[in-house]
Amino acid sequence: MSKLEGKVAVVTGASKGIGAAIARTLAKEGAAVVVNYASSKAGADAVVASITAAGGRAIAVRGDVSKAAEAQGLIAAAVERFGRLDVLVNNSGIYEFAAIEEITEAHYRRLFDINVLGVLLTTQAAAKHLGEGGSVINISSAITHVHTPTAAAYAGTKGAVNAISGVLANELAPRKIRVNVVSPGFVVTEGTHTAGVVGSDMEAGLVAQTPLGRAGQPDDIAGVVAFLASDAAGWLTGEVITASGGIR
Ligand code: NAP
Repeated sequence: MSKLEGKVAVVTGASKGIGAAIARTLAKEGAAVVVNYASSKAGADAVVASITAAGGRAIAVRGDVSKAAEAQGLIAAAVERFGRLDVLVNNSGIYEFAAIEEITEAHYRRLFDINVLGVLLTTQAAAKHLGEGGSVINISSAITHVHTPTAAAYAGTKGAVNAISGVLANELAPRKIRVNVVSPGFVVTEGTHTAGVVGSDMEAGLVAQTPLGRAGQPDDIAGVVAFLASDAAGWLTGEVITASGGIR
């Protein structure tokens, strides 16, 4: 039996990049998957099509995780379609880089609304439906300890995600719901292409500091998430797993 057979998972920001790989991997392991997106309907539909073509179950659901009503609507759609909820992967996130002189209120608020408030609102909505054996996996970033220049606000959001995850691991433990973090190093995705990181000096510097000597690919993260979602990780909560090729 596949390790997620019978489970239902919501993956936020699964229209592309790391989230799309997570959705495909959870489905391959037997989960029914809700593929969330904010604006990229075509991307989300393509992820759903690839899952169903492989014999899996998935639906695409739009929702901005930084809006309470939309986060609730996303979780409600999952429960309505598949009848239960077992796994929430808070993957949605944006990155924008700015030197300290260039940081604006808008830059700060955009990052914190999606990367931090989005995690709180979606987990709040999901917690009503997760039962014993439930698993929440938050995608943070190795930037919290690599400390890349110009990433002050972004790294701040991911430090907050780590702290929130530790608190919620304790808070939800009496209900036997586990909360863990996967903290990726640099991964080649649509987002890192758009942000201009792929091919940049920043990428070269990060890869040069990476003991395994290469950038990450979305599947490097997805397998770790699938493990944390599974009962094999049943005694892990409050953990931060850095999946980064060894960069620290
Ligand atoms: P990506 O390719 O830019 O994809 C981002 C995803 O988030 C998209 O599906 C996007 O949906 C969704 N999203 C953005 N705003 C949203 C919102 N308000 N509500 C719901 N969904 C929203 O990003 P990625 O590189 O795969 O990164 C995924 C996660 O990994 C992020 O949390 C990021 O911080 C983290 N991470 C990435 C790296 C890296 O090097 N790539 C390293 C460490 C951590 P739409 O397309 O519909 O807008």
